[in-house]
Amino acid sequence: MYFAPLLYHFMKIICIGRNYSEHIKELGNTTPEQPVIFLKPDTALLKNNEPFYLPDFSNDVHHEVELIIKIAKPGKKIQPKFASSYYQEIGIGIDFTARDLQSNLKSKGLPWELAKGFDGSAPISSFIPLTELNNSTINFSLNKNGIQVQQGNTSQMIHAFDEIVSFVSQYFTLKTGDIIFTGTPAGVSKVNIGDKLEAFIEDKLMLTCDVK
Ligand code: ZN
Repeated sequence: MYFAPLLYHFMKIICIGRNYSEHIKELGNTTPEQPVIFLKPDTALLKNNEPFYLPDFSNDVHHEVELIIKIAKPGKKIQPKFASSYYQEIGIGIDFTARDLQSNLKSKGLPWELAKGFDGSAPISSFIPLTELNNSTINFSLNKNGIQVQQGNTSQMIHAFDEIVSFVSQYFTLKTGDIIFTGTPAGVSKVNIGDKLEAFIEDKLMLTCDVK
């Protein structure tokens, strides 16, 4: 009998909004005092460079390229000074966002989940050890059809990894395998059928996603 790996079966996808100033400006939002947090269900995940199928309920799905960290051990109410021991691997993902739905929900003061957590809204790469990188100066970027559209560096984050892990763990117990999307830099834009998205950490191509 074959038992599927349990790696992703009992895990949370936690996302940070408004964590890069230039992106906050491009959407006309204000800078929050605390991290903005939302969740995606595990059914949002796309792995192994699976294609993304545009949902029929939106006419304005945006790409948001984001670094993602994977929680390595359970923890709650983690102090910032201990937070770095709770993640050891980094990857990259796309927080697909139905911007038209999100704008409508935001205007009514409603939660964002329909705009952020739909099926396929979270393509992710495989993970690499963080020891290969300097946490505070990691470059990442997104190409659309071969042209760079988003570029960020962890030095530009309003809330750094340790602060995010600490903050989130005050509310949600973190479990091994949970993934945190750490926010997008400027340059978000609409995706269309036929687009090819490629996400990089430094110069390394980590994730490809064809929009269908
Ligand atoms: Zn995002």
